[in-house]
This record gives sequence, structure tokens and C-alpha cells, in this order.
Amino acid sequence: MSFLELATSGVQGLRPYQPGKPIEELKREYGITNVIKLASNENPLGPSPLVLEAIQANLAELSRYPDGNGFELKQAIANKYDVEMDTITLGNGSNDILELIARAFVTSQQSVIFSAHAFAVYPLVTQAIGAKMIITPAITWGHDLTAMREAICDDTRLIFIANPNNPTGTWLDKDNLQNFLESVPNNVIVVVDEAYYEYACKNPNYPNSLEWLKTYPNLIVTRTFSKAYGLAGLRVGYSISHPQVTNLLNRVRQPFNVNNLALVAGTVALSDSEYLDKSIELNRIGMRQLENAFNDMNLSYIPSLGNFLAVEVGNGAKINEALLTKGVITRPIDVGYGMPHHLRISVGTEAENTICINALKQVLSDS
Ligand SMILES: *Cc1c(COP(=O)(O)O)cnc(C)c1O
Repeated sequence: MSFLELATSGVQGLRPYQPGKPIEELKREYGITNVIKLASNENPLGPSPLVLEAIQANLAELSRYPDGNGFELKQAIANKYDVEMDTITLGNGSNDILELIARAFVTSQQSVIFSAHAFAVYPLVTQAIGAKMIITPAITWGHDLTAMREAICDDTRLIFIANPNNPTGTWLDKDNLQNFLESVPNNVIVVVDEAYYEYACKNPNYPNSLEWLKTYPNLIVTRTFSKAYGLAGLRVGYSISHPQVTNLLNRVRQPFNVNNLALVAGTVALSDSEYLDKSIELNRIGMRQLENAFNDMNLSYIPSLGNFLAVEVGNGAKINEALLTKGVITRPIDVGYGMPHHLRISVGTEAENTICINALKQVLSDS
């Protein structure tokens, strides 16, 4: 007997998420000591010092269960973004929330829409519940909102939109996204995944999606502490949605899905605007550094509002392997994302970017 046959058909078709290669793994496998990782869109500054202090001060609380309602963190989010606390759902990373949404609203008889080259967690959570995936073709690597609108059928319950999208970095402006929301029937949930919000919101045409929540009760906005706030390892994210939707998400949520230290860290992180500004500025400068280098090297890349760039290098998987031997971890996006000619490179510190650029130059001239 194969256990594969016992699994639900959705799970049988699942491909496990492929994370960026951990630094320690590369050191072990290749026997090298100098390794940089620009593969998972992490904040190269590390966490805020204020957050580290708060975590240390709360270590003794680890014998206690966390506050299952996350009162303080929700209060901090509510104050910062001027929303009511009963619109907030906390997650073990925002990936947790993406899964809660699928489980709360979609059955295996229904369909979920997302774009080609969109974030890999959308197919994952859709297939895990055995629902039908409707994948719309991309337009210049970004979401084609017209195609997504036209793809809606009677059984469609959920649409995932990443703004900006990972791994392409493409984004949707205010007017286009609002027109789309206006056109979607209100029995279809629309998730606007804003994992890179803090980087993207500096752009004047980037929407303030929270403004739309009152007009479009079927809208759920998700955000995270994993990227600009530098807390990917702690796992904490949140969504903001209509109170009734929020109530439903909280019914399927595990009672203690966000741990003590993550709750404390998130609360303190929101108050440390100096660290956030520094992170965003470092990203702005690093993004320009990578863009300039790729321009000089005649490599085309997809303009990005995130903290990463998808750059066209020929055979992405092969170039990635060659970069690994030089201690540089980037992200091939052939498997799962359908972009075999690109590599996704996260913006690092100036020194990390320089190492990556030089390694890429060498590897491309050798190949
Ligand atoms: C990184 C990322 C997330 C967030 O993941 P967490 O679970 O919060 O760490 C969500 N959506 C997109 C598009 C991302 O790139």
C-alpha cells in the first residue's frame, strides 16, 4: 500500500513549498564559510534592537500560554492604522492567515483565482483543501485584472492578489485595483496581500487599501512583520477585514497561533519608526545599486516595489547553482513560479549586494 493513495486528491497533487536555501545548509554541503543569503526577502539589518531587548525581557514568560486574543498587538495595529480591533486577525506569519481564509470560505467544490507567477502559497492553500485553481495568464509579468475578473464563475469564492507580487515585484495602482474591487461580486472574497506594504507605500500611486474596507466588505488585506520589520523567524502577520469576516477567521484559527515573543516583538516593532525608516532607506539605496549594476551588465529585470528584483539571467537554475559555489544564495524561480530564465535576488546591505553582483558577473562570463 502507498500512503499517497490515502491522501486527499488535492494533497496528492501538492508540491511542497521550496524555501530559500538556509545559510548553514550551504556551508555544510559546500564546505565554505563565507556565505550571503539574498534568497528569502529578509531584512538585511536584522531585527530592531528595541525588539531584541523586549524579547529578552519577556523570556521568562515562555512557560505561559500566549494571549490568545493578542490584545496588545491588536491595539498597536489598531492605533497605527486607525482601524477597529475587531477587524484584526493575527497569524503565525501572514501565510497562516492565507490558509485560514481558504479554509473558512472555500470547499473542494469551489474555485479560487490567482495569477500566473503569483506567490506560491496561493496554490498551496488552495490545493490543500482540494479546491479548483483558476490561474489567469500574467500581463508583462503582473496580474491581469481584466482576465481575473472574467475568470470569475458561479463557484468562485476567493481571489488572491499580491500587491506587490512576489517573485515578480509587479504592482497594481490605486485606480486599477479599485475598479477591479468595484467589479467583483460581493460574495467573492478578495485578498489583497500586502506583505511588502511598508516598502511599496512610498509610491504615490500605491493604494491605501484600508480605506476601501468600508466600501468593499468582501476585501481582506494581509500584512506581515516578516519583511520590512525584520521578524521572519518569529512568524507573525495579520489581516484587516470586515468584523464578520474577522469573526469567521478567528473561528478556524488555532487558539494560540501566535507565540508570546512574537506578540511582544510585533507590538514593539510597530513603535520603532526609526528602524523601519532605516530599513526602507537601505532598501531604496540597495535597489538602485542592483538596478544600476544590472543595467551596466545589460541584464533586464522586472521593476519592483518590494525588497527584491527578478532579473533575467538565461538558465536561472544553472546560474543559481554556480552562484552557490561562490557562497551566494539567490532564489531560482523555475519550479513553482514558471520563470526559468529569471533569478529572484533580495536586496541586501551594500556590501552583500556588491558581493552578489561580482559573483553574478563572474558566473555569467564563465557560462
Ligand atoms: C513573504 C510573503 C508573505 C509573508 O509571509 P509570512 O508568512 O508573513 O512570513 C506573504 N505574501 C507574500 C507575497 C510574500 O512574499
